Amino acid sequence: MRKPIVAGNWKMNKTVAESRQLVAELVPGLQAVDSVERVLCPPFTSLMAVAAMLEGTEIRLGAQDMYWEASGAYTGEVSPLMVKELCQYVIIGHSERRTYFGETDETVNRKVKAALAHGLLPIMCVGETLAENEAGRTAEVVSRQMRAGLAGVELKDGKSLYIAYEPVWAIGTGRAATADGANKVIADVIRPALATLFNAQISQEVRVLYGGSVSGKNATDLFTMPDIDGALVGGASLKVEEFVPITRAAVK
Ligand code: PEP
Repeated sequence: MRKPIVAGNWKMNKTVAESRQLVAELVPGLQAVDSVERVLCPPFTSLMAVAAMLEGTEIRLGAQDMYWEASGAYTGEVSPLMVKELCQYVIIGHSERRTYFGETDETVNRKVKAALAHGLLPIMCVGETLAENEAGRTAEVVSRQMRAGLAGVELKDGKSLYIAYEPVWAIGTGRAATADGANKVIADVIRPALATLFNAQISQEVRVLYGGSVSGKNATDLFTMPDIDGALVGGASLKVEEFVPITRAAVK
């Protein structure tokens, strides 16, 4: 059985002081849900403060991105070694990075490989745009992102990789995918791609999250689907009254 996971992507929100306040409010509610992997992904500038606050808890920390080189003349970038000092997870290939910052399948692939090489747990994001969805190209696009993002990746088992299926049209729009629709993409496209790239066992071990306007209202429907193992939550992860119930809804 796959352990459910709920990860909060704070995006470019919260100063250090605001992060401390949010974490103080989140911890009691999140601590109580220990059958779910709970991950907070604040901005880089807040990682150290949040790491200190999460010490002694089972709540884990993730970065929202990273570069693939370990060190060097790459002004403005943050390396896997730096992330690894504070975090266990790293989000890679979020659609906002693909749309606004030139992330490609190839850079996603380099970052996934670097994360694994440094013992970080990558949460690789895939998902089609509205135009691609409307053109009936979801399977083609997601399968290409899977194959290119994971090309040449070697895994011992499926526990060190996470995939987030995030249809771009559902992110931040308040218009989540239906539970059936999201489950179908995961079952018909993402797990078969994992089986082809790795093997049947790994395809059943990898945790696949759904992301895109997850809220306290739709979480239970999504999490009852057999192939959805949790959620990557954006906007609602900044609200204690949403994020804690979403996490509770993930309990099997
Ligand atoms: C995200 O940032 O990964 C996301 C899914 O955002 P939201 O929950 O706000 O749609």
